[in-house]
Amino acid sequence: MADVKLVDLKKSYGTVDIIKGVSLDIRHGEFVVFVGPSGCGKSTLLRMISGLEEITGGDLYIDGARVNDEQPRERGIAMVFQSYAIFPHMTVRENIGFGLTLAGTPKAEKERAVGEAARVLQMEHLLDRKPSQLSGGQRQRVAIGRSIVRKPKVFLFDEPLSNLDAALRVDMRMEIGKLHKDLEATMIYVTHDQVEAMTLADKIVVLRAGEVMQVGSPLELYHNPANQFVAGFLGSPKMNFLDVEVKEARDGGVVVASPALEPVSIPRAIGAFRSGGRAVLGVRPQFLHPGEGADRGHLHGRVSLVERLGTETVVNVDLTAGGRVVVALDGDRPFDLGAELLVGFEPSKAHLFEAA
Ligand code: ADP
Ligand code: MG
Repeated sequence: MADVKLVDLKKSYGTVDIIKGVSLDIRHGEFVVFVGPSGCGKSTLLRMISGLEEITGGDLYIDGARVNDEQPRERGIAMVFQSYAIFPHMTVRENIGFGLTLAGTPKAEKERAVGEAARVLQMEHLLDRKPSQLSGGQRQRVAIGRSIVRKPKVFLFDEPLSNLDAALRVDMRMEIGKLHKDLEATMIYVTHDQVEAMTLADKIVVLRAGEVMQVGSPLELYHNPANQFVAGFLGSPKMNFLDVEVKEARDGGVVVASPALEPVSIPRAIGAFRSGGRAVLGVRPQFLHPGEGADRGHLHGRVSLVERLGTETVVNVDLTAGGRVVVALDGDRPFDLGAELLVGFEPSKAHLFEAA
């Protein structure tokens, strides 16, 4: 266990800045997830922590010591990648113990460590198999086992579940969460999958183009996104965004309107707004309801697509005034394609962001 501190960490290749000054405090035993779209710098940042990537600027501390110039193996970290990188000619036992063999660990101690890792990963019955006799999920567990036996201070995971099929991903996700609890280890986990981030993280770090957009617990970020990017990245289906005009900005709410929307006062407005300016209204699909109801923000359109998932019905509505919103309703609800539909939202459930 160890805490990890990033102070204005930077990475550039030549004149191209990839990581643009990231500062972050990761506490002992915390599960931190770096999430963001492909190419935003997640792997680069993780590799800078691991020592596989040189740090251009700033300071990195593990357990209080500055490690910028330490070799990967001196940093007390273990890294698990998307590709399992296990040896096909070795058994599970040999693969898991490989790092200890290299380090010249005494046999009895190695056997104990491998046995313990196998127990934690529920692989005791598979120790004599070769990787070709394992499923994808089991192979990934071997790779994790290999990192566990080294008793690292910090575990780093780079999209470890991306190569697995959907059902297995869910299983492995739960196993990694359980592993974190069992080992009480500091873990830093990279993914582009917001569901993995929401379910695993104590703390999510949302990255965009090498910069931190927001740091917080999954539900903090979900309920109080600091900007449109974070709001659009977390949550499924994605939050709806509508371009609106600011009619009046005052304490307690910003009144906005658009050709699709009669004036409505939005209490949760993040940023600076002025009358006559533009803004972006955000409403999650779960907070749009069909019919007049008690809601005050109303949008009129026609049903253009219906996805009936059993537990949820997702309806796309093409707005009469242009644009489209997605409505997510509990349960199985029939809708006719092309039917007119009025959807409304409670203004307190909406967000107002500055226009980009
Ligand atoms: P992510 O893991 O979030 O998908 P990466 O960290 O792999 O993103 O990459 C971040 C950015 O850095 C990308 O735009 C990528 O093209 C660039 N990049 C990565 N490695 C190099 C390199 N060796 N030279 C130049 N650019 C690189
Ligand atoms: Mg990556």
